[in-house]
Amino acid sequence: MSQADQALVDTLLTTLGNAYAPYSNHPVAAVMECPDGQQFAGSNVEVAHYKGLCAEASAISAMITAGQRELAKVYVMGPGEHLCTPCGDCRQRIREFATPSTQIMVLSKQGDVLKTYTMDSLLPDAFGPEQLQAVKRFLATPAPPAATRAGALFPPALRSIAQHSSPQWPQYPGAP
Ligand SMILES: [Zn+2]
Repeated sequence: MSQADQALVDTLLTTLGNAYAPYSNHPVAAVMECPDGQQFAGSNVEVAHYKGLCAEASAISAMITAGQRELAKVYVMGPGEHLCTPCGDCRQRIREFATPSTQIMVLSKQGDVLKTYTMDSLLPDAFGPEQLQAVKRFLATPAPPAATRAGALFPPALRSIAQHSSPQWPQYPGAP
C-alpha cells in the first residue's frame, strides 16, 4: 500500500468535505486526471428522490465540460478505510473515456492507495464505443441475396465482422 501525492490527497479531502450526502451519509470524492495532467474533482450529490449523482459522474462532467476527452488516471476516495470502488454505472462511464493504460485507484480517507485497477480489470469485456463502430460497419455491409437471408436471423457478414473487429467483441447472443 502506498501513499498518494499530498496535493492530490488534499484535493480529494476538500472534495470529500464538500460532498452532499445527507441521506446515505457516505460522501465520496473523485478526481479525473487527463493525459496533460489536468485534474477535475467531483463529489457525490444526493437528492431527496434518491436519484443522486456519483462523485465519478460529477468529476467526468467537469472534465467533459472543460473540453477533455481522455482519462489517464482516476482517483476515488471514500469516507473511511474500506474499498470504495466505482459503482457499475460509473465503471461504464469511466470506460467511455478510458484507454487500456488508464489507471483507476481507490484511496482510503487517510490517503493510502488501497487498490489500483486497469480498465479491463475493473470492467472486463466491457461494451464500449468500438462495438458501436463495428455495428456501423455491419450496417454498411450490402445485404446478401434474399435466399441467404431466409434461413438465418443474422447474415454471415456479422460473424465475419465480429471476428475481425476488436478482440473484446462480445459473443453476440443469438448469432448463428
Ligand atoms: Zn457511481
